[in-house]
Amino acid sequence: MTTVGILGGGQLARMMALAGAPLGLRFLVLDAAEDPCAAQCAPLLRADYRDAGGLAEFAGRVDVATFDFENVPADSAQWLAAKVPVFPDPRALAVAQDRLAEKTLFRDLGIPVPDFAAVADRAGLDAAIAAVGTPSILKTRRLGYDGKGQFRLKSPADAGAAWDALGAQAASVGLILEAFVPFQREVSVVAVRGRDGELRAWPLTENWHDHGILAASLAPAVVGAALQETALAHARRIAEALDYVGVFALELFLCDGVLVANEMAPRVHNSGHWTIEGAVTSQFHNHLRAVLGLPLGDTAAIGRSCMLNWIGELPDAAPVLTEAGGYWHDYGKSAREGRKVGHATLRADDDASLATMLERVGRALGREAQVAPVIQRLTEV
Ligand code: ATP
Ligand code: MG
Ligand code: MG
Repeated sequence: MTTVGILGGGQLARMMALAGAPLGLRFLVLDAAEDPCAAQCAPLLRADYRDAGGLAEFAGRVDVATFDFENVPADSAQWLAAKVPVFPDPRALAVAQDRLAEKTLFRDLGIPVPDFAAVADRAGLDAAIAAVGTPSILKTRRLGYDGKGQFRLKSPADAGAAWDALGAQAASVGLILEAFVPFQREVSVVAVRGRDGELRAWPLTENWHDHGILAASLAPAVVGAALQETALAHARRIAEALDYVGVFALELFLCDGVLVANEMAPRVHNSGHWTIEGAVTSQFHNHLRAVLGLPLGDTAAIGRSCMLNWIGELPDAAPVLTEAGGYWHDYGKSAREGRKVGHATLRADDDASLATMLERVGRALGREAQVAPVIQRLTEV
């Protein structure tokens, strides 16, 4: 019997544990929270990632370890990797944790990125603005998620306000200034690389954000084969450079026909949730297969799917559940503003059916604005 340890007990760990049951896997979740949502589906070891005793107990109880949370301290992950196999490798995690290291790697690999510059202090911000220009975005290098830890500068006159917002974090997590990309679309490629180096990717996904948080995904994205191939080539180059094992996501901006890399997530990803019902093999199944050294499954899509994120609180499930291709995911979390508490996936064999399904569900839930851009994409010629 194999026990997979998961660092972090959020919805990603929860869905991983649910996916692993048919493979006969056991799980152990490490999390400092009292009742993380994955603990409803897998045993919990309650400890902080920096707690040496907790980490040692975790290492003793699992056969292999992986991540639900990408910001596990790199030295804790390294320590663990000396005791049990850890995938992805903590060195890959360290790069993906730091926007500066990540963007530098992408650029070195020949992948387009927005202009960027590290910012160490207030004078450094002025220098970065002179180099990168405006509009631009000041971001924390580490620990940001859902658009948190970001300040948008319209002109150099915003430097003072940007520093007031984020300057205090310059010493602890570091800052980076990035040029604002006037993109037409946001897409992501979710891919998996096995222990033997085999790489497979799901079709490109188009994503819409609301206040920095993913609101809706459409997969396969309505794009041509050339963009699919370029995105896959970028993902492959990154995965091979990092000797990556497991699932990861690469977020890209489509700007005037060019794919510009934003960031990577060294784990299963929200823009891959549609694969649970919309692909032959889900990202959660394939992540576990990769981590365990098992053959990877087919990543082909089955028709087209739209994933809708539920942020803050869950709407009524019934309008989704009454749809033939409607699937409901309640993460078992309490409601809280800005929190991802669940998602729905709507899957159909043809675009017209998916569009009408989205219209019905959007109207019934009062979520017309959330589904509107997806319907527009599905119905444009
Ligand atoms: P995630 O939850 O995806 O990890 P995050 O907090 O790491 O989010 P980013 O993905 O860097 O943040 O940014 C959040 C969103 O802000 C992006 O999906 C995009 O819509 C917008 N954004 C970020 N960087 C840029 C940029 N350089 N130019 C234009 N828009 C940007
Ligand atoms: Mg991120
Ligand atoms: Mg992002």
